[in-house]
Amino acid sequence: MAGIKAPRGVRDILPEESWKWAYVLERTEHISHCHGYREIHLPVFEQTELFSRGIGETTDVVEKEMYTFLDRGERSLTLRPEATASMVRAYLQNNMHSEQQPVKLWCAGPMFRYERPQKGRYRQFWQIDVEALGTSNPLVDVEIINVALALFEDLGLSNLDVVINSVGCPECRPAYRDELKAYFQDHLEDLCDTCQNRFDRNPLRILDCKNEKCREITAGAPDIYSSLCEDCRIHFDKVLEGLKMLQIPFHIDKRLVRGLDYYTKTAFEVLSGELGAQNAVCGGGRYDNLSEAIGGPRLPGVGFAAGIERIVLIMEQQGCDFGPKPSVDVYVIAADDLSREEAFYVATELRRNGIRADLDFLERSMKAQFKSAVSKDSVFTCIVGEKEISRSVVTVKDLRTGEQSEISRKDLAGYLQPRIRP
Ligand SMILES: [Zn+2]
Ligand SMILES: [Zn+2]
Repeated sequence: MAGIKAPRGVRDILPEESWKWAYVLERTEHISHCHGYREIHLPVFEQTELFSRGIGETTDVVEKEMYTFLDRGERSLTLRPEATASMVRAYLQNNMHSEQQPVKLWCAGPMFRYERPQKGRYRQFWQIDVEALGTSNPLVDVEIINVALALFEDLGLSNLDVVINSVGCPECRPAYRDELKAYFQDHLEDLCDTCQNRFDRNPLRILDCKNEKCREITAGAPDIYSSLCEDCRIHFDKVLEGLKMLQIPFHIDKRLVRGLDYYTKTAFEVLSGELGAQNAVCGGGRYDNLSEAIGGPRLPGVGFAAGIERIVLIMEQQGCDFGPKPSVDVYVIAADDLSREEAFYVATELRRNGIRADLDFLERSMKAQFKSAVSKDSVFTCIVGEKEISRSVVTVKDLRTGEQSEISRKDLAGYLQPRIRP
């Protein structure tokens, strides 16, 4: 095809797929509301500083993956690579500390990262974000994990499992960092290039490297638990107790550190799929220092993000139900050329009565119109021709039973409604 195409790494979500997204979003809204989370709409771009300070200058996201540009007023702006920093910014800017705490919010929308495009990974991708701001109560960590689980259970994902860890806090993490560096020092040459690079700047990230050799090395690495300060240790214990109380299946993984600097204490992922080949469907954790990193007061928070592309992909793989596919109830068929305007009028009357109706605009034959009715999964056809018009009736055919009857125009909507949605 000549002409303009979408940029590399982005794509159109076509109607064959978009109805599945709508289903996931509708269930997200339902589950969020069930747990007392309210929807917020956040801007798609923010001041670059929000992310460079909030997410951390040395993270992959900030170093390599942001869409940053100068606007016409020479301000540095960035298309949001994630939503948590914006969520905290919105809380601070809108004085939500004066509301009852915690402030529980959710949002969904596109995020942007300059990554190498590959299957299931795009430069514009959609995320669901659920966040609770304003309390460090460990039960809220448990609630957030439970919201994620409730959503994925509702969507029908199989073998759900929670992986959890503590990443400590600025008080106890430096000691663990040193301990890790001392361990990795002896294996430095065997680590992959990326990890050799991480060694000085962010040795914790070596723990979640997927490289085979690195994984062998990290298996023997010290865990953080003996380094945790009392506050972090008590918090971690209480989160685990809460999960047990709610009978949420989980296991602890010392390698789970997540890619963003702002995490403190709880870090978690929810996995789904065949045992042994499970996929993470969401990731999240606590970020008690994010607000201060962007110049705000202390504001504890915990939340998770889940990619919609990933959720839909895994639901398809697992054969999950997306609810009914949008279709029309009635296809209105013009029996002859003189009846086409009347057919349009009938379709409009039906629509005005809340019945989903469609019709042909290409002046095609009756046979072709019947085909369209079938391909659009309509339940009824309404045939309008000269003989129907002269007697103010419509020939209604139930495509499920083949049953055909003549119905007066004024009774048409009343006749169809109970048969479409009993
Ligand atoms: Zn700590
Ligand atoms: Zn590595």
